[in-house]
Amino acid sequence: MTQVKNILVVGGGIGGQSVAIALKKAGYEPEIVELHKEFNVYGVGIIQQANALRALDAIGVADEAIRRGSPYGRVKLCIPTGQQIGEAGTPPIGRFPSHNGISRRILHDILFEEAQRVGVKYRMGLTVEHINNQPDKVEVSFTDGTTGTYDILIASDGINSKVRSLVFGQYKPNYVGLSVWRYAFPRPKDLDTGYIYFGKKSKIGIIPMTADACYIFLNSAEGENPYIPENELVDRLKAHMRTFPVPIVQELVEQVTDAKLVNYRILETLKLPAPWYKNRVIVIGDAAHATIPQLGSGAALAIEDAVVLVEELQKNTTVEETFAQFMSRRLQRCQMVVEASETLGQWEVLEYTGQALPEGANMGALMGKTTMALTAEI
Ligand SMILES: Cc1cc2nc3c(=O)[nH]c(=O)nc-3n(C[C@H](O)[C@H](O)[C@H](O)COP(=O)(O)OP(=O)(O)OC[C@H]3O[C@@H](n4cnc5c(N)ncnc54)[C@H](O)[C@@H]3O)c2cc1C
Repeated sequence: MTQVKNILVVGGGIGGQSVAIALKKAGYEPEIVELHKEFNVYGVGIIQQANALRALDAIGVADEAIRRGSPYGRVKLCIPTGQQIGEAGTPPIGRFPSHNGISRRILHDILFEEAQRVGVKYRMGLTVEHINNQPDKVEVSFTDGTTGTYDILIASDGINSKVRSLVFGQYKPNYVGLSVWRYAFPRPKDLDTGYIYFGKKSKIGIIPMTADACYIFLNSAEGENPYIPENELVDRLKAHMRTFPVPIVQELVEQVTDAKLVNYRILETLKLPAPWYKNRVIVIGDAAHATIPQLGSGAALAIEDAVVLVEELQKNTTVEETFAQFMSRRLQRCQMVVEASETLGQWEVLEYTGQALPEGANMGALMGKTTMALTAEI
């Protein structure tokens, strides 16, 4: 077991809370610092595939995620009029179904409740100001004027990670030319699983979130200047949705009424070159490998990172060995997801801008191959 005790976790998102729970359960003393004074998790859903549930199980919360989410089997891939052309997903892993849809707020609550239960310490509304990263300790000063010395610092502060900039220099996220629109709805009675409809200008997914709720994601190419003012969000989302004649989308389109509930954002990736550690600082989750959601696996990777890092802390005797072993288990798998998602995204951009896809491009096949690879043990 690595002889460390005090661990600073920067960022209390999915990856940060997962690693803090795993650390505390393994006997370490993690402390989370979170930039925001209060968590404000937006109210759409997130897809957890079987490998995400397996990782959540390792920190003790998978059953709660399934109980408060909506487990479902393979996703039906369809043309805009509704005819099915394929399916995506994996066989169950043990008792974990191919997919669990869940509200992001509920997933956050589950992690927060578990972290509170095991006694993880949170400090809200601050961040790191300066990091003195030495071979045997990390000295940190915070934006509230306090300071601290830690055995390890784990950066899980997302795609625009401040820790990454302070320790590794500037890396700019890469805009892939796509935007995503999301909106939550009451669940239609006939929504029996997840659906994705592939159109010529966009694709729309309808994902169960709870027994009573679902959400949609819609990917589109909004060009080089994808900013859209709030007063246009409702009409533009509805215009995209109207290009899908399938009845379930037409039923939902009339329920899009509130611009404040339209979650619109551009899609970006980030690949921090390996290794994702230096001295006593290690970067995990989106801060190291942010992917676009074409495979619905970014959070799964962040949770897996958390599980693997704590396993390696327990197995190895030095921090250097721990971090090196972590990299050897995580690099290829995370790169595979980010790169396959980028390829899927590039094909979408070509499709939505009327350009030819490369010969042999097959979205269903690439999705299937990559998600199956993720069922392998981490
Ligand atoms: C549109 C979209 C859809 C997605 N859908 C899925 C999906 O269906 N399934 C899936 O598995 N993944 C999905 N993802 C990916 C998933 O959301 C991310 O991979 C996941 O949230 C990464 O977790 P994280 O903890 O690394 O980072 P984040 O979730 O970004 O959390 C970072 C945390 O750090 C805090 N923070 C930021 N800066 C600082 C700072 N300087 N100091 C302290 N705290 C800070 C933030 O407030 C936040 O709490 C999707 C992503 C997008 C963009």
